[in-house]
Amino acid sequence: RSADVVVLGAGPAGLVLGILLHSAGIDCVILERASRNHVQTRARAGFLAPNTVRILDRHGLADGLHRHGHRHGTCEFRTEDGRLRLDYGALGQGQQHHVYPQQKLVTDLLTHYLGLGGRIHFHTEALIVSDADTGTGTGTDGARPSVTTREPDGRPTRWTARYVAGCDGRYGAARRSLPPGAVRRHHHDHGVTWLGLLAETPPSLDAVGYAIHDRGFAGHMARTPDVTRYYLQWQRGTPADAWPEQQIWDELDLRMRAADHGPLRRGRLLERGVFDLTCDVVEPLRHGSLFLAGDAASLLAPAAAKGANLAVLEAEMLAEALTAALTRNDTAGLDTYSDQCLAHIWRAQEFTGWMTRLLHATPDRDHDGGSFFHAALQRSRLASLRTSRVHQDWFAENYVGV
Ligand code: FAD
Repeated sequence: RSADVVVLGAGPAGLVLGILLHSAGIDCVILERASRNHVQTRARAGFLAPNTVRILDRHGLADGLHRHGHRHGTCEFRTEDGRLRLDYGALGQGQQHHVYPQQKLVTDLLTHYLGLGGRIHFHTEALIVSDADTGTGTGTDGARPSVTTREPDGRPTRWTARYVAGCDGRYGAARRSLPPGAVRRHHHDHGVTWLGLLAETPPSLDAVGYAIHDRGFAGHMARTPDVTRYYLQWQRGTPADAWPEQQIWDELDLRMRAADHGPLRRGRLLERGVFDLTCDVVEPLRHGSLFLAGDAASLLAPAAAKGANLAVLEAEMLAEALTAALTRNDTAGLDTYSDQCLAHIWRAQEFTGWMTRLLHATPDRDHDGGSFFHAALQRSRLASLRTSRVHQDWFAENYVGV
Protein backbone atom coordinates (compact mmCIF):
# COMPACT_ATOMS: atom_id res chain seq x y z
CA ARG A 1 0.00 0.00 0.00
CA SER A 2 1.32 3.46 -0.76
CA ALA A 3 0.60 7.18 -0.98
CA ASP A 4 2.80 10.20 -1.61
CA VAL A 5 1.97 11.46 1.89
CA VAL A 6 0.86 9.20 4.73
CA VAL A 7 -0.74 11.28 7.48
CA LEU A 8 -0.89 9.74 10.96
CA GLY A 9 -3.89 10.86 13.04
CA ALA A 10 -7.27 12.42 12.29
CA GLY A 11 -7.28 15.26 14.80
CA PRO A 12 -7.42 18.93 13.72
CA ALA A 13 -3.83 18.79 12.40
CA GLY A 14 -4.18 15.59 10.36
CA LEU A 15 -7.57 16.48 8.91
CA VAL A 16 -6.65 20.04 7.85
CA LEU A 17 -3.44 18.67 6.31
CA GLY A 18 -5.32 15.88 4.54
CA ILE A 19 -7.91 18.28 3.12
CA LEU A 20 -5.33 20.78 1.84
CA LEU A 21 -3.14 18.07 0.29
CA HIS A 22 -6.09 16.33 -1.33
CA SER A 23 -7.40 19.65 -2.67
CA ALA A 24 -3.97 20.33 -4.20
CA GLY A 25 -4.14 17.00 -6.03
CA ILE A 26 -1.61 15.24 -3.79
CA ASP A 27 -2.04 11.51 -3.28
CA CYS A 28 -2.46 11.14 0.50
CA VAL A 29 -4.05 8.86 3.06
CA ILE A 30 -4.92 9.38 6.74
CA LEU A 31 -4.38 6.49 9.16
CA GLU A 32 -6.33 6.81 12.42
CA ARG A 33 -6.10 4.47 15.40
CA ALA A 34 -9.57 5.21 16.77
CA SER A 35 -13.07 4.81 15.34
CA ARG A 36 -14.88 7.53 13.41
CA ASN A 37 -17.35 7.89 16.26
CA HIS A 38 -14.54 8.31 18.80
CA VAL A 39 -12.79 11.14 16.94
CA GLN A 40 -16.11 12.91 16.34
CA THR A 41 -17.16 12.85 19.99
CA ARG A 42 -13.87 13.50 21.83
CA ALA A 43 -14.49 16.79 23.69
CA ARG A 44 -11.35 18.87 24.14
CA ALA A 45 -10.73 22.42 22.88
CA GLY A 46 -13.36 25.07 22.38
CA PHE A 47 -11.67 28.43 21.88
CA LEU A 48 -10.51 29.11 18.34
CA ALA A 49 -8.20 32.05 17.70
CA PRO A 50 -8.93 34.59 14.93
CA ASN A 51 -5.98 33.29 12.93
CA THR A 52 -7.38 29.77 13.06
CA VAL A 53 -10.73 31.04 11.79
CA ARG A 54 -8.93 32.93 8.99
CA ILE A 55 -7.14 29.74 7.92
CA LEU A 56 -10.36 27.72 8.00
CA ASP A 57 -12.17 30.50 6.09
CA ARG A 58 -9.41 30.64 3.49
CA HIS A 59 -10.03 27.00 2.63
CA GLY A 60 -13.82 26.98 2.94
CA LEU A 61 -13.77 24.98 6.19
CA ALA A 62 -15.49 27.40 8.55
CA ASP A 63 -19.19 27.11 7.62
CA GLY A 64 -20.08 25.09 10.72
CA LEU A 65 -18.31 27.35 13.14
CA HIS A 66 -19.87 30.47 11.63
CA ARG A 67 -23.31 28.85 11.75
CA HIS A 68 -23.16 27.20 15.18
CA GLY A 69 -20.26 28.78 17.05
CA HIS A 70 -20.29 32.18 18.67
CA ARG A 71 -17.85 35.00 19.17
CA HIS A 72 -16.40 35.59 22.59
CA GLY A 73 -14.31 38.46 23.90
CA THR A 74 -14.54 38.74 27.68
CA CYS A 75 -12.75 37.07 30.55
CA GLU A 76 -13.15 37.55 34.26
CA PHE A 77 -10.64 36.95 37.03
CA ARG A 78 -12.09 36.36 40.48
CA THR A 79 -9.83 36.91 43.46
CA GLU A 80 -10.12 37.88 47.09
CA ASP A 81 -9.88 41.48 45.88
CA GLY A 82 -13.02 41.14 43.77
CA ARG A 83 -13.64 40.76 40.05
CA LEU A 84 -11.46 41.92 37.19
CA ARG A 85 -13.30 41.82 33.87
CA LEU A 86 -11.29 42.28 30.70
CA ASP A 87 -13.10 42.86 27.41
CA TYR A 88 -10.10 41.52 25.55
CA GLY A 89 -12.02 41.68 22.27
CA ALA A 90 -11.85 45.47 22.54
CA LEU A 91 -8.22 45.54 23.70
CA GLY A 92 -4.96 44.81 21.89
CA GLN A 93 -5.71 44.27 18.22
CA GLY A 94 -9.46 44.13 18.88
CA GLN A 95 -9.85 40.42 18.12
CA GLN A 96 -12.14 37.80 19.64
CA HIS A 97 -12.27 34.03 19.94
CA HIS A 98 -14.83 31.81 18.27
CA VAL A 99 -16.26 29.27 20.68
CA TYR A 100 -16.86 26.03 18.80
CA PRO A 101 -16.27 22.61 20.37
CA GLN A 102 -13.32 20.74 18.89
CA GLN A 103 -15.38 17.60 18.26
CA LYS A 104 -17.75 19.62 16.06
CA LEU A 105 -14.83 21.09 14.14
CA VAL A 106 -13.34 17.62 13.69
CA THR A 107 -16.73 16.35 12.47
CA ASP A 108 -16.93 19.21 9.94
CA LEU A 109 -13.38 18.58 8.72
CA LEU A 110 -13.91 14.85 8.41
CA THR A 111 -17.18 15.31 6.50
CA HIS A 112 -15.44 17.74 4.16
CA TYR A 113 -12.48 15.41 3.59
CA LEU A 114 -14.72 12.43 2.85
CA GLY A 115 -16.87 14.63 0.59
CA LEU A 116 -13.76 15.41 -1.48
CA GLY A 117 -13.14 11.68 -1.82
CA GLY A 118 -10.26 11.70 0.67
CA ARG A 119 -8.85 8.37 1.84
CA ILE A 120 -8.93 7.56 5.55
CA HIS A 121 -8.53 4.27 7.44
CA PHE A 122 -10.01 4.12 10.93
CA HIS A 123 -9.06 1.45 13.50
CA THR A 124 -5.60 1.53 11.94
CA GLU A 125 -2.81 2.13 14.41
CA ALA A 126 0.59 3.25 13.21
CA LEU A 127 3.20 1.23 15.07
CA ILE A 128 6.46 2.57 13.69
CA VAL A 129 7.77 4.84 10.96
CA SER A 130 10.89 3.38 9.43
CA ASP A 131 13.06 3.36 6.37
CA ALA A 132 11.40 1.23 3.71
CA ASP A 133 14.72 -0.26 2.64
CA THR A 134 16.30 -1.09 5.97
CA GLY A 135 13.11 -1.41 8.05
CA THR A 136 14.69 0.43 10.96
CA GLY A 137 14.69 4.03 12.20
CA THR A 138 13.30 6.78 10.04
CA GLY A 139 14.53 7.52 6.56
CA THR A 140 17.16 10.22 6.80
CA ASP A 141 17.57 10.89 3.11
CA GLY A 142 13.88 11.58 2.55
CA ALA A 143 13.67 8.87 -0.07
CA ARG A 144 11.44 6.01 1.09
CA PRO A 145 9.85 6.09 4.52
CA SER A 146 7.33 3.43 5.46
CA VAL A 147 4.72 3.08 8.18
CA THR A 148 3.95 -0.26 9.78
CA THR A 149 0.35 -0.42 10.98
CA ARG A 150 -1.89 -2.76 12.89
CA GLU A 151 -5.05 -3.17 10.79
CA PRO A 152 -8.55 -3.61 12.29
CA ASP A 153 -8.18 -7.40 12.02
CA GLY A 154 -4.88 -7.25 13.94
CA ARG A 155 -2.67 -8.01 10.94
CA PRO A 156 0.43 -5.85 10.36
CA THR A 157 0.52 -3.90 7.11
CA ARG A 158 3.14 -1.67 5.60
CA TRP A 159 2.52 1.66 3.87
CA THR A 160 5.23 3.26 1.80
CA ALA A 161 5.34 6.99 1.11
CA ARG A 162 7.51 9.86 -0.01
CA TYR A 163 6.68 11.81 3.16
CA VAL A 164 5.07 10.93 6.49
CA ALA A 165 3.24 13.58 8.53
CA GLY A 166 3.09 12.73 12.23
CA CYS A 167 -0.15 14.35 13.45
CA ASP A 168 -0.81 11.59 15.96
CA GLY A 169 -0.35 13.51 19.20
CA ARG A 170 2.07 13.22 22.05
CA TYR A 171 1.89 9.45 22.44
CA GLY A 172 1.76 8.63 18.74
CA ALA A 173 4.05 6.55 16.57
CA ALA A 174 5.76 9.53 14.93
CA ARG A 175 7.48 10.66 18.11
CA ARG A 176 8.22 7.10 19.11
CA SER A 177 9.97 6.47 15.81
CA LEU A 178 12.51 9.27 16.16
CA PRO A 179 15.88 7.62 16.68
CA PRO A 180 17.67 8.54 19.92
CA GLY A 181 19.73 11.69 19.45
CA ALA A 182 17.94 12.71 16.24
CA VAL A 183 15.99 15.52 17.92
CA ARG A 184 15.97 17.36 21.22
CA ARG A 185 12.93 17.05 23.50
CA HIS A 186 12.39 19.96 25.85
CA HIS A 187 10.03 19.03 28.67
CA HIS A 188 8.62 21.19 31.44
CA ASP A 189 6.25 20.32 34.26
CA HIS A 190 4.26 23.29 35.53
CA GLY A 191 3.74 21.33 38.76
CA VAL A 192 -0.02 21.69 38.57
CA THR A 193 -2.80 19.15 37.94
CA TRP A 194 -6.34 19.88 36.76
CA LEU A 195 -9.58 17.98 37.01
CA GLY A 196 -11.37 18.77 33.73
CA LEU A 197 -15.15 18.52 33.79
CA LEU A 198 -17.87 18.72 31.17
CA ALA A 199 -21.20 19.63 32.73
CA GLU A 200 -24.62 19.34 31.15
CA THR A 201 -25.64 22.85 32.06
CA PRO A 202 -25.69 26.28 30.41
CA PRO A 203 -22.77 28.62 31.14
CA SER A 204 -23.10 30.54 34.40
CA LEU A 205 -21.03 33.54 33.30
CA ASP A 206 -21.00 35.57 30.11
CA ALA A 207 -17.19 35.41 30.32
CA VAL A 208 -14.37 32.91 30.62
CA GLY A 209 -14.06 32.64 34.40
CA TYR A 210 -10.70 32.26 36.12
CA ALA A 211 -10.92 31.95 39.92
CA ILE A 212 -7.74 32.35 41.91
CA HIS A 213 -8.21 30.97 45.39
CA ASP A 214 -6.19 29.75 48.37
CA ARG A 215 -7.67 26.30 47.79
CA GLY A 216 -6.53 26.32 44.16
CA PHE A 217 -7.62 27.49 40.73
CA ALA A 218 -11.11 26.98 39.30
CA GLY A 219 -12.14 27.74 35.71
CA HIS A 220 -15.38 28.18 33.77
CA MET A 221 -15.56 28.07 29.95
CA ALA A 222 -18.65 28.09 27.76
CA ARG A 223 -18.89 25.36 25.14
CA THR A 224 -22.49 25.28 23.84
CA PRO A 225 -25.78 26.72 25.21
CA ASP A 226 -26.24 23.43 27.12
CA VAL A 227 -22.72 22.33 27.99
CA THR A 228 -20.06 24.08 30.06
CA ARG A 229 -16.47 23.14 30.82
CA TYR A 230 -15.17 23.57 34.36
CA TYR A 231 -11.71 22.98 35.76
CA LEU A 232 -10.54 22.45 39.33
CA GLN A 233 -6.91 22.49 40.37
CA TRP A 234 -6.48 18.97 41.71
CA GLN A 235 -4.14 17.08 43.98
CA ARG A 236 -1.70 15.21 41.75
CA GLY A 237 -2.27 11.46 41.84
CA THR A 238 -5.90 11.71 42.99
CA PRO A 239 -8.26 9.83 40.66
CA ALA A 240 -10.94 11.76 38.77
CA ASP A 241 -13.77 9.95 40.52
CA ALA A 242 -12.48 10.62 44.05
CA TRP A 243 -15.18 13.19 44.81
CA PRO A 244 -18.97 12.86 44.44
CA GLU A 245 -20.69 15.40 42.17
CA GLN A 246 -22.11 17.37 45.11
CA GLN A 247 -18.62 17.93 46.54
CA ILE A 248 -17.29 19.07 43.16
CA TRP A 249 -20.08 21.63 42.72
CA ASP A 250 -19.62 22.86 46.32
CA GLU A 251 -15.90 23.30 45.68
CA LEU A 252 -16.53 25.11 42.38
CA ASP A 253 -18.98 27.43 44.20
CA LEU A 254 -16.40 28.13 46.88
CA ARG A 255 -13.46 28.83 44.57
CA MET A 256 -15.58 30.77 42.04
CA ARG A 257 -16.88 32.79 45.02
CA ALA A 258 -20.49 32.13 44.12
CA ALA A 259 -21.60 33.73 47.38
CA ASP A 260 -20.25 37.10 46.15
CA HIS A 261 -20.82 36.85 42.40
CA GLY A 262 -23.86 34.63 41.94
CA PRO A 263 -24.49 30.87 41.94
CA LEU A 264 -23.27 28.43 39.32
CA ARG A 265 -25.88 26.50 37.35
CA ARG A 266 -25.42 22.91 38.37
CA GLY A 267 -25.98 19.93 36.11
CA ARG A 268 -24.95 16.35 35.49
CA LEU A 269 -21.22 15.84 35.00
CA LEU A 270 -20.86 14.22 31.59
CA GLU A 271 -17.12 13.70 31.66
CA ARG A 272 -14.22 13.93 34.10
CA GLY A 273 -10.51 13.73 33.34
CA VAL A 274 -7.34 14.42 35.29
CA PHE A 275 -4.31 15.85 33.56
CA ASP A 276 -0.99 17.26 34.68
CA LEU A 277 -0.07 20.63 33.22
CA THR A 278 3.10 19.62 31.46
CA CYS A 279 4.47 20.82 28.17
CA ASP A 280 7.15 19.86 25.72
CA VAL A 281 8.67 20.79 22.40
CA VAL A 282 10.40 18.50 19.90
CA GLU A 283 13.18 20.30 18.05
CA PRO A 284 13.49 20.18 15.07
CA LEU A 285 10.05 19.09 13.87
CA ARG A 286 11.57 17.00 11.15
CA HIS A 287 13.69 13.93 10.79
CA GLY A 288 14.39 13.13 7.15
CA SER A 289 11.04 12.62 5.46
CA LEU A 290 9.06 12.51 8.71
CA PHE A 291 7.46 15.81 9.78
CA LEU A 292 5.64 16.54 13.04
CA ALA A 293 2.61 18.83 13.48
CA GLY A 294 0.15 19.62 16.27
CA ASP A 295 0.51 17.92 19.65
CA ALA A 296 3.05 15.53 18.14
CA ALA A 297 5.33 18.55 17.65
CA SER A 298 4.61 20.35 20.87
CA LEU A 299 2.31 19.84 23.80
CA LEU A 300 0.97 22.90 25.61
CA ALA A 301 -0.76 23.08 28.96
CA PRO A 302 -4.41 23.99 28.25
CA ALA A 303 -4.30 27.14 30.45
CA ALA A 304 -4.15 29.47 27.44
CA ALA A 305 -6.06 27.36 24.88
CA LYS A 306 -3.38 27.30 22.19
CA GLY A 307 -2.96 23.62 21.21
CA ALA A 308 -5.68 23.18 18.58
CA ASN A 309 -4.87 26.60 17.14
CA LEU A 310 -1.21 25.74 16.65
CA ALA A 311 -2.24 22.40 15.14
CA VAL A 312 -4.28 24.14 12.41
CA LEU A 313 -1.54 26.71 11.72
CA GLU A 314 1.15 24.04 11.40
CA ALA A 315 -1.06 21.87 9.19
CA GLU A 316 -1.50 24.72 6.73
CA MET A 317 2.23 25.45 6.68
CA LEU A 318 3.11 21.79 6.20
CA ALA A 319 0.51 21.37 3.44
CA GLU A 320 2.00 24.29 1.49
CA ALA A 321 5.53 22.96 1.91
CA LEU A 322 4.64 19.38 0.93
CA THR A 323 2.62 20.57 -2.07
CA ALA A 324 5.54 22.67 -3.33
CA ALA A 325 7.90 19.73 -2.87
CA LEU A 326 5.66 17.21 -4.61
CA THR A 327 4.32 19.36 -7.45
CA ARG A 328 7.25 21.67 -8.22
CA ASN A 329 10.18 19.84 -6.68
CA ASP A 330 10.66 22.93 -4.50
CA THR A 331 11.79 21.81 -1.03
CA ALA A 332 12.53 25.26 0.40
CA GLY A 333 9.30 25.23 2.45
CA LEU A 334 10.13 21.84 3.94
CA ASP A 335 13.59 23.12 4.87
CA THR A 336 12.18 26.10 6.79
CA TYR A 337 9.04 24.40 8.17
CA SER A 338 10.55 23.50 11.53
CA ASP A 339 12.08 26.91 12.27
CA GLN A 340 8.92 28.75 11.26
CA CYS A 341 6.71 26.58 13.44
CA LEU A 342 9.09 26.70 16.39
CA ALA A 343 8.90 30.50 16.48
CA HIS A 344 5.11 30.24 16.96
CA ILE A 345 5.42 27.31 19.37
CA TRP A 346 7.86 29.03 21.74
CA ARG A 347 5.74 32.20 21.71
CA ALA A 348 2.67 30.13 22.66
CA GLN A 349 4.66 28.23 25.31
CA GLU A 350 5.86 31.50 26.82
CA PHE A 351 2.36 32.94 27.15
CA THR A 352 0.96 29.63 28.40
CA GLY A 353 3.65 29.57 31.10
CA TRP A 354 2.81 33.16 32.08
CA MET A 355 -0.90 32.31 32.23
CA THR A 356 -0.24 29.16 34.27
CA ARG A 357 1.76 31.15 36.82
CA LEU A 358 -0.97 33.79 36.95
CA LEU A 359 -3.68 31.24 37.71
CA HIS A 360 -1.92 29.07 40.30
CA ALA A 361 0.05 29.67 43.42
CA THR A 362 2.72 27.11 42.51
CA PRO A 363 3.20 24.20 44.87
CA ASP A 364 6.88 25.12 45.22
CA ARG A 365 7.46 26.10 48.80
CA ASP A 366 9.54 29.02 49.90
CA HIS A 367 12.14 28.68 52.61
CA ASP A 368 9.64 29.76 55.24
CA GLY A 369 7.53 26.72 54.37
CA GLY A 370 4.71 28.77 52.86
CA SER A 371 3.91 29.90 49.34
CA PHE A 372 3.81 33.57 50.22
CA PHE A 373 6.38 34.59 47.64
CA HIS A 374 4.50 33.09 44.68
CA ALA A 375 1.12 34.27 45.94
CA ALA A 376 2.54 37.81 46.20
CA LEU A 377 3.87 37.62 42.64
CA GLN A 378 0.47 36.41 41.50
CA ARG A 379 -1.25 39.38 43.19
CA SER A 380 1.28 41.75 41.68
CA ARG A 381 0.67 40.38 38.16
CA LEU A 382 -3.06 40.82 38.61
CA ALA A 383 -2.63 44.33 40.00
CA SER A 384 -0.65 45.25 36.92
CA LEU A 385 -3.33 43.75 34.68
CA ARG A 386 -5.98 45.68 36.61
CA THR A 387 -4.27 49.04 36.34
CA SER A 388 -2.12 49.12 33.22
CA ARG A 389 -3.77 49.59 29.84
CA VAL A 390 -0.49 48.64 28.18
CA HIS A 391 -0.45 45.36 30.11
CA GLN A 392 -4.10 44.73 29.19
CA ASP A 393 -3.33 45.26 25.50
CA TRP A 394 -0.36 42.89 25.77
CA PHE A 395 -2.59 40.30 27.45
CA ALA A 396 -5.33 40.60 24.81
CA GLU A 397 -2.90 40.32 21.93
CA ASN A 398 -1.30 37.18 23.34
CA TYR A 399 -4.54 35.64 24.61
CA VAL A 400 -6.18 35.52 21.18
CA GLY A 401 -2.97 35.26 19.18
CA VAL A 402 -1.15 32.24 17.81
P1 FAD B 1 -5.16 15.18 18.39
O1 FAD B 1 -6.39 15.99 18.37
O2 FAD B 1 -4.74 14.54 19.67
O3 FAD B 1 -5.30 14.07 17.28
C1 FAD B 1 -4.36 13.03 17.16
C2 FAD B 1 -5.04 11.83 16.51
O4 FAD B 1 -4.08 10.80 16.30
C3 FAD B 1 -6.12 11.22 17.40
O5 FAD B 1 -7.31 11.09 16.65
C4 FAD B 1 -5.55 9.86 17.81
O6 FAD B 1 -6.57 8.87 17.98
C5 FAD B 1 -4.65 9.56 16.64
N1 FAD B 1 -3.54 8.65 16.96
C6 FAD B 1 -2.77 8.62 18.08
N2 FAD B 1 -1.84 7.67 18.00
C7 FAD B 1 -2.00 7.09 16.78
C8 FAD B 1 -1.33 6.05 16.11
N3 FAD B 1 -0.28 5.41 16.67
N4 FAD B 1 -1.75 5.69 14.86
C9 FAD B 1 -2.80 6.34 14.28
N5 FAD B 1 -3.49 7.32 14.89
C10 FAD B 1 -3.08 7.70 16.11
N6 FAD B 1 -6.55 23.76 22.49
C11 FAD B 1 -7.02 24.96 22.06
O7 FAD B 1 -6.49 25.51 21.07
N7 FAD B 1 -8.07 25.60 22.68
C12 FAD B 1 -8.69 25.05 23.78
O8 FAD B 1 -9.67 25.61 24.29
C13 FAD B 1 -8.19 23.77 24.27
N8 FAD B 1 -8.76 23.16 25.34
C14 FAD B 1 -8.34 21.90 25.69
C15 FAD B 1 -8.96 21.26 26.76
C16 FAD B 1 -8.54 20.00 27.14
C17 FAD B 1 -9.21 19.31 28.30
C18 FAD B 1 -7.49 19.34 26.44
C19 FAD B 1 -7.05 17.95 26.84
C20 FAD B 1 -6.87 19.96 25.37
C21 FAD B 1 -7.28 21.24 24.99
N9 FAD B 1 -6.68 21.90 23.93
C22 FAD B 1 -7.11 23.14 23.56
C23 FAD B 1 -5.60 21.24 23.16
C24 FAD B 1 -6.13 20.59 21.88
O9 FAD B 1 -7.22 19.77 22.15
C25 FAD B 1 -5.01 19.81 21.19
O10 FAD B 1 -3.88 20.62 21.13
C26 FAD B 1 -5.42 19.36 19.78
O11 FAD B 1 -6.34 18.30 19.84
C27 FAD B 1 -4.21 18.92 18.97
O12 FAD B 1 -4.62 18.44 17.70
P2 FAD B 1 -3.79 17.31 16.96
O13 FAD B 1 -4.49 17.08 15.67
O14 FAD B 1 -2.36 17.63 16.97
O15 FAD B 1 -3.90 16.03 17.91
